[in-house]
Amino acid sequence: MAFEGLTGRLQDAFSGLRKKGKVTEADVKDVMREVRLALLEADVNYKVVRNFVKTVREKSLGEEVLGSLNGGQQVVKIVNDELTELMGGEQEKIIFADPGQGPTIYMMTGLQGAGKTTTAGKLANYLRKHENKKPMMVAADIYRPAAIDQLETLGRDLDIPVFSMGDQVSPVEIAEKGIQQAKDENRDVVIIDTAGRLHIDENLMNELEDVKAAVNPHEIFLVVDAMTGQDAVNVADSFNDRLSITSVILTKLDGDTRGGAALSIRSVTNKPIKFTGTGEKLEALEPFYPDRMANRILGMGDILTLIERAQQEVDEERAEEMAAKMRENRYDFNDFIEQMDQMTNMGPMEDILKMIPGMSNVPGMADFQMDPKDIAHMKAIVLSMTPEERENPDILSQKRRRRIAKGSARDIAEVNRMIKQFKQSKEMMSKMSKGNMGGMPGLDKL
Ligand code: GDP
Repeated sequence: MAFEGLTGRLQDAFSGLRKKGKVTEADVKDVMREVRLALLEADVNYKVVRNFVKTVREKSLGEEVLGSLNGGQQVVKIVNDELTELMGGEQEKIIFADPGQGPTIYMMTGLQGAGKTTTAGKLANYLRKHENKKPMMVAADIYRPAAIDQLETLGRDLDIPVFSMGDQVSPVEIAEKGIQQAKDENRDVVIIDTAGRLHIDENLMNELEDVKAAVNPHEIFLVVDAMTGQDAVNVADSFNDRLSITSVILTKLDGDTRGGAALSIRSVTNKPIKFTGTGEKLEALEPFYPDRMANRILGMGDILTLIERAQQEVDEERAEEMAAKMRENRYDFNDFIEQMDQMTNMGPMEDILKMIPGMSNVPGMADFQMDPKDIAHMKAIVLSMTPEERENPDILSQKRRRRIAKGSARDIAEVNRMIKQFKQSKEMMSKMSKGNMGGMPGLDKL
């Protein structure tokens, strides 16, 4: 999970302060020392940290905070606001060609391995799904042998056209011809995948400058790997110097990145992060919202992203049907499997739980890991049931359970445990959906 260390340290730093009524100048100094260390440890650029701490300290020492009754909470709010500012403040939208002036042209740039090609596919998919666009991808990375194949495979998987001319033609020519083809075929967005290298070098930069001059893109996206921390920031700085990139896409935020890149890039390059990559799947691209990210970093959850992810996975009509089944106690193992698949598509369970406000404060949550194998085992058990058993779990006799255990290669005890848990949660869901929260202390207050 991204930012785990940073979130933990910041929460520790604030825990004493939150409980305090009046906050003194010394309290603010103490807590800001902790915040400074936490940010440096998370690999945030030292100049960024220095300015950040200075601003928060100045604002926190304002009379309103020191004199007020809930000064601690106000300091946390100032930190939250300043983290949001640090990452750009408002969410910045992607730029499209003016109506009638299309197609929109995007250049994808970045070092090898950052996720550039994958992100080209994710972006095409995102634009089709959420912006109603008809994208085309152009394979202009002629050096990495597999890059063209990789883009073509992505195109096939997504059913989005890919323009390529092999690796014997110059990237400028490929890009120009690709755009022509897009115009001929009425595609309204062209995403050009350019070459990457392991390190920044002069030839690469010259080539990218040539492509830029030839196609005049609406956006030059720089794809950087969040896991590389300060290196990602340095890469962004260099690309920006030479190419004047327009936006950053930060990949691999699903990994255990410390946070340095997300928190420093905007203020070092003055270019916004517009998307984050949150997994290997082609759906795992999310618009970047500085305020939501600040909330997440402070362990306050991110309910809006959670809802959006759920909406992507679940069809509204089907959700209502499912709710009715729960209410009427008709929920069965088929529904169970369907929901489990939806949950796994939304990302790692521990990340999802932490998006619920308050969850990251629950003891043990920081180390909570749900083993994907557990889900696979539960699924294997259900898949070893007959259609009749899945619809009607009451008929699961000992004999049937033994057969299921054998079929799924799981222990009989595990099969029994899962069926018991299923029955309990079914009962609970039925109660909850009837508005009776009995036995679930606190749930009704959410
Ligand atoms: P390129 O060399 O920059 O074009 O990089 P690729 O697109 O080939 O990606 C390199 C690796 O990173 C591949 O294995 C991708 O699946 C993986 N990858 C890309 N984006 C993400 C992401 O957001 N999360 C995770 N976990 N992996 C990613």
